[in-house]
Amino acid sequence: MVNKIRINVEMLDENDKVIGSEIIKTMRIKKPQTLLDVGYRHSEQIEILQALQDALLNQQSVFFHEDIEECPKCHSKLAKKGYTKSDFNAVFTDHKVKVSRLYCTGCDWKSIPSILSLFGTTVHPELSKLQCENAATRSYRDAAKSLNQVCNGTRRVNNHDRIKHTCETVGNYASINPIASSEKVRAARQLCLQVDGGHVKSKSPDKRSFEVLTSVVFKPENIDTTYSYEEQDDGELALKYKRGKLTSKQCAASALSDNLAHIKAQTIVAAQKEGLTKNTHVTALCDGAKNCWQVVNALEEKARKVTRILDWFHIAMKFQNLSLKDAAIQENAKHAKWFLWRGKPQQALKRLNEVLLALTEKKEKVKIKSLITYIKNNEEHIVNYEKRKEQGKCFTSHLAESNVESLINQRCKGQQHMRWTREGLHPLMQIRSLIASNDWCRQWEQTICGATLRAA
Ligand SMILES: [Zn+2]
Repeated sequence: MVNKIRINVEMLDENDKVIGSEIIKTMRIKKPQTLLDVGYRHSEQIEILQALQDALLNQQSVFFHEDIEECPKCHSKLAKKGYTKSDFNAVFTDHKVKVSRLYCTGCDWKSIPSILSLFGTTVHPELSKLQCENAATRSYRDAAKSLNQVCNGTRRVNNHDRIKHTCETVGNYASINPIASSEKVRAARQLCLQVDGGHVKSKSPDKRSFEVLTSVVFKPENIDTTYSYEEQDDGELALKYKRGKLTSKQCAASALSDNLAHIKAQTIVAAQKEGLTKNTHVTALCDGAKNCWQVVNALEEKARKVTRILDWFHIAMKFQNLSLKDAAIQENAKHAKWFLWRGKPQQALKRLNEVLLALTEKKEKVKIKSLITYIKNNEEHIVNYEKRKEQGKCFTSHLAESNVESLINQRCKGQQHMRWTREGLHPLMQIRSLIASNDWCRQWEQTICGATLRAA
């Protein structure tokens, strides 16, 4: 009967002959009293990983030296002379790795390298990946906590400042080094583009908030819409759309104040990854803000045709937020909405001007005035929504999940006091965009290694 179990590491030569061995852990086999005793405990697993990694690192360490044959100063031969211990942070464990010191046999030149100087970082790229992924979905402090829990201990490399630094390095690298689609993308005949902005609280004392722009590009057939029936006031059931999921999409985001340069460039990259060619018809939905239309304009040259549509969702929201006190006047304003629904902005404006004359309260007047301005500014992009809906064409962003909600709000507004700088938020937005675009699994390695490792 087996009494103990032992984990051994064996060192083999080129003929597979065992030339050394090291005991990692020995455990007595006994009857588990509870499920806690089944298998190795969390702490034991980390210990085993630590010892296994050390065993491998000890053998790899002969290769950790500067890759030079002769002294860069006097060209004499170099001699290995002892080791220096150097920090290395693996995914779950921290290590001191031996690196070889080189001394010149002719002059006083010497090389005392480290994992940092040899590779550009002490952090294994897969730990950087985990840090980015964790911080993409929660605060830096929560990410630190979560990573430490998995490692069963507090590691300095997982300190929230270190995680933030990793994200900024990786995100800023991704921002200026977008990776074009690696596979051959099928050309898209139709693409849908939505550009929208979201506001986040600013850290700077003289500004309350700043705007982050996002865009999402997808093929219309990739909206996986679910339907449901809802009971109406008259007791009848009516078919309602629920916000659908986009089964494939490409996102871009920018927190920079750079005259839209970044968001324009990234939106083009995103569209190309979804199959944009000179033959593509792009339908763009926007909330009506001037800067959003300007982002759409960036695609003009790259597509066959761009159809610009003022997003019905935003029009409907504006009317929903009116809530005028006088019921008759409110009803009249509602008529304006139905004129817009049928693509008649002139008639809608006429109604709203009547509403404006009928109102007495200043606050309500201001609301209507701003609605009139909004319609005037976007008049040429107001279409016959009713007809588009009948034809099954896209006319509103509310059929798919909101990009602003998923890219910005879910990360930036979780906690009351979350405040941001443009420089701090921008890189994080790049990582969130990559993850949301399902690009991360293909691109993390290239992005993280490019961002953190010393160029070979
Ligand atoms: Zn020398």
